[in-house]
Amino acid sequence: MRAGIGYDVHKLIEGRDLILGGVKIPFKMGLLGHSDADVLLHAICDALLGAAGEGDLGRHFPDNDPKYKGISSIKLLEEVKMLLKSKGYSLGNLDASIICQKPKLSPHIRRMVENIALALESEPDRINVKATTTEELGFAGRGEGIAAYCVVIIEKN
Ligand code: MG
Repeated sequence: MRAGIGYDVHKLIEGRDLILGGVKIPFKMGLLGHSDADVLLHAICDALLGAAGEGDLGRHFPDNDPKYKGISSIKLLEEVKMLLKSKGYSLGNLDASIICQKPKLSPHIRRMVENIALALESEPDRINVKATTTEELGFAGRGEGIAAYCVVIIEKN
């Protein structure tokens, strides 16, 4: 059994779609990034890579590589899953928190969990996604960006 942690932040700007956990969320702003900037999936990928001793997302998917421009982060998560699978690991469990003042994310959490379970070939009850505000404090509270944390346990098959 091995543990990993992931953390990511992306900036909120106008004129971008807001994609979190592979779900397109109706909102006037979206996250800026080279890929679809899915901050939740990036934190999850980093946690999984960390648990497997495989560095981080930037090492595997450089953000200056045109191949990854605008890419769905679900694809990145699937590639991370394949890497772990090739090393004989599968998901024990995953717990993530999204730090977001607006919009309200609770109506979308179930679909995020389903998307993550599908990408990881895992069961939804191994995956927990939460969302919290910061009581309007800091960059997340001012709506300048969204952050995500993730902790995972992986198990050798
Ligand atoms: Mg990122």
